[in-house]
Amino acid sequence: MGKWLRRVLAALIPLTGACAWAPAHAQGVREFEPVTVPMEVRQVAPHSFYVLGQSGMVSRENEGFNSNAGFVVTSAGVVVFDALGTPALGQRFKALIGQTTRQPVKRVIVSHYHADHVYGLQAFGPSRGQPGAEVWAHAVVRDYLATDAPAARLAERRQSLAPWVNASSRIVVPDRYLGEDTSFKLGGLSFHVMHAGPAHTPEDLMMLVEEDGVLFVGDLMFTGRIPFVADADVSAWILAIERVLKFKPRIVVGGHGPASTDALADLALTRDYLVFLRDQVSAAFEDGLDFEAAYQRIDWSRFSGLPAFDAANRRNAYQAYLNVEQEALRGIKAPR
Ligand SMILES: [Zn+2]
Repeated sequence: MGKWLRRVLAALIPLTGACAWAPAHAQGVREFEPVTVPMEVRQVAPHSFYVLGQSGMVSRENEGFNSNAGFVVTSAGVVVFDALGTPALGQRFKALIGQTTRQPVKRVIVSHYHADHVYGLQAFGPSRGQPGAEVWAHAVVRDYLATDAPAARLAERRQSLAPWVNASSRIVVPDRYLGEDTSFKLGGLSFHVMHAGPAHTPEDLMMLVEEDGVLFVGDLMFTGRIPFVADADVSAWILAIERVLKFKPRIVVGGHGPASTDALADLALTRDYLVFLRDQVSAAFEDGLDFEAAYQRIDWSRFSGLPAFDAANRRNAYQAYLNVEQEALRGIKAPR
C-alpha cells in the first residue's frame, strides 16, 4: 500500500506544477516562456555533443544563452554536463537531446554553481511519470548553498532575465555531492569526474569521456574571450589549467566559446591572461600601489581587443589584487 501510494504521488507531482511541497526540481517548467534564441547541437566525437552559447555576458538579447552545455549519449542513457542559464534554456536543451537520441537523461554533472550553468537544471526533473536525472556536484557547493548569495542572484535574474527566469524558478540542489574524484561506466563508456578547483570556483568539476578523448572543463577555459574571474583564486586556476594540459585531451569543451581541438593553444589564452593578470597586479602591489593606481599603471593593450574585456577586466584585476593582498597577509608569495 505504501509503495502504491508513493507511485501515485510520484505520478501526480508533474501535474501539480508549483505545488509547495514538491521538491524544486519536480516542479513543472511549462510556465516558462520558450526561448527564441537559436540553439543547435554540435557533435565533437562519436558520443559527445554540446550546445554553444553566444559570446559575451548574459543579456536580454541572448535570453541568458551565453554558456555551453554538453551531453554524452550511451546505450544506457545520457550524461549531461551543465544545464544552461535559465529553466527555459534547459527545457530547449533537453528537447534537443531528445531529438538526438531516444535514450533518457540519467545524470547531470554540474561544473560549478554559477547561475549561467545551473538554472536549466529545473528542466531535468521528473516529467510525464518519468524519473528526473540525478544531479551531481562537488561537495563544497553545499557551503555556497548555505549562504545568502544564491537567493540574491536568483532575485536579480528574475528581474534581468524575465520571463525566462520567473517566480517559479528555483535553485535545484544536487542529489549527490562528490567529495573526491569519481569514475563510472555507463553504456560501455568510461567517465571520470574530477575536482579541478579551487580555480574558477572552489567547486570546479571536469569530466573526461575516455573513449571519445573529450574533456568537459566548465569555466576553466574561456575560448576566444577574456575569462570571468569572479571570486576565483587566480594562482590555483593557473595550476588547474596545467593539470588539464597533462590529460592531452583530443577535444576540450569549455563553459564559454567553441570547443577546442587544440587544447594547448586555447587553454594558453586563458592561462596567459591569468598569468599576466597575477604578475602585473602583484608587481604593482609590491610597489605599494593601491588598486586604482595599479590598474592605471598596467598596459592592458595585449588583451583589450578581446571579447568581454570591457565587461570583465576591471573586476578580474580587482579580484587578482585581493588574491595578492590575501597572500601577503598569509605571508605566501604567489608562485611565478
Ligand atoms: Zn562560471
